Amino acid sequence: MENECVFCRIVSKNLKSYPIYEDNNILAVLDINPATAGHTLIIPKVHYNTLYDMPQDQYLYMLTIARAIAFAMLLVQGAKNVDILYTSELVKGNITPHAILHLIPRYENDALSYTWQPQRMSEDELSALASKISSAINSVKEGAKPAAQEKTAVQEVKAGEKQEEKPVEKKIELKPKPVVY
Ligand SMILES: [Zn+2]
Repeated sequence: MENECVFCRIVSKNLKSYPIYEDNNILAVLDINPATAGHTLIIPKVHYNTLYDMPQDQYLYMLTIARAIAFAMLLVQGAKNVDILYTSELVKGNITPHAILHLIPRYENDALSYTWQPQRMSEDELSALASKISSAINSVKEGAKPAAQEKTAVQEVKAGEKQEEKPVEKKIELKPKPVVY
């Protein structure tokens, strides 16, 4: 499955891309169909289906790199802000098979907007929901895993005949290496 993943093919340089940053763990490339100029994809080099499958240190490292790249965009792109966006493949309609972050620079009068219809909730409903999610956070801190992650793990076992060939998680290496075009 990883071999067919478009982002793994970008990482292995089997697809042309426009890299702006690379180190041992992360490759960041320009989106070739950007929402705004400078729209960047932050791609972990190891294939994870979702952010929730990533080890904590890898995830935190990706966020650190994302923020550094966002700062760079503010410096050189004249952006007013940078949106950091993640959409899971588990959400209907999204086909992203690899845990990536989108960095989208925002400019005055750009064409991008997020809209939704605000939902009405009563005080009782808000209170009950806050309590429910709060309890779940405590469970997660104690080691509970969401169902989606269990499902992913099961799928990997079924699909991965060669499980032993799964990429070994690399140690975090903070030293960036030069991007090769
Ligand atoms: Zn992939």
